[in-house]
Amino acid sequence: MREPVGVVVMLSAEVMEKYRRAGEIAAKVREEMRRTVREGMPIIEVCERAESLIVSLGGKPAFPCNVSINDVAAHYTSPPDDEGEIPENSVVKIDIGVHIDGYIADTAATICFDPNHERLVEVSEGALKMAVKIIRPGLSIARFGLEVQRFIKSRGFKPISNLTGHQVGRYLIHAGKVLPNVSQMSISKIRLGEVYAVEPFVTYPEAAGIVKNSPEAFIFRLAKRKSPKEAESRRLLKFIESNFRTLPFAERWLRNYGSRSEYRRAFSDLISGRYLMSYPVFVEASGGLVAQSEHTVVVEKDGASLLT
Ligand code: MN
Ligand code: MN
Repeated sequence: MREPVGVVVMLSAEVMEKYRRAGEIAAKVREEMRRTVREGMPIIEVCERAESLIVSLGGKPAFPCNVSINDVAAHYTSPPDDEGEIPENSVVKIDIGVHIDGYIADTAATICFDPNHERLVEVSEGALKMAVKIIRPGLSIARFGLEVQRFIKSRGFKPISNLTGHQVGRYLIHAGKVLPNVSQMSISKIRLGEVYAVEPFVTYPEAAGIVKNSPEAFIFRLAKRKSPKEAESRRLLKFIESNFRTLPFAERWLRNYGSRSEYRRAFSDLISGRYLMSYPVFVEASGGLVAQSEHTVVVEKDGASLLT
């Protein structure tokens, strides 16, 4: 029998235990990154340290460590030859995903190297704290978004309106419902036993408050299981499916497959044939600085319980 993939409705004690372990590891790695990331550090070192720490703590990365700097809101991870460093006076979002047997914890923190932007980061943390506090079975998604928007606006900042929190499912990072950070038409409600990543994104009031896709993408995932014509492409797709299943991965993670010249052609064949989908880097549309704070929670009878 094939194991279930996707939203899991009833959480058994065994599943909860896997979520809790994933959450503990994710929180440890996030805090370790908060303590150790410095200006001038190679970005690729940050990504690889986070990912190897996840493994040494007994988990697996649920997606590549995202290091999104300043107006980059999300989805940057180092390509194999990344020479970039953490810039001075930057605002750096570190986003970490851990899974145990497909059960995912997703968490992020913003590290601020410029005292002028500390308030921006505090407001994203405050919005997250408030959001986690109001989650309970029966809360409407529309109400949730309104409350987050009110919190951020009342402190003089602006939410990013087209980035949302999301339900997580087994081997699926974005599954089911979303949790908007602005007021939104929705008839959905939060239900008992659901697992959500809650993640307010905050920018300055004069910024556009939306993100756009940049032309670059460094994170990919399996899109269709059909078999490509080329033998080399089939072999690479099989490697991707057996190692990452439906979870996002970075090109860096293909190093066990072979040298870059070996997989390069097959990789672009898989992209152009849409066997793989790519996650474009999200950039604030007007160049505004962005802060993000994220926790994964499980909805219990009396409210949200933090996993991360
Ligand atoms: Mn995340
Ligand atoms: Mn997330």
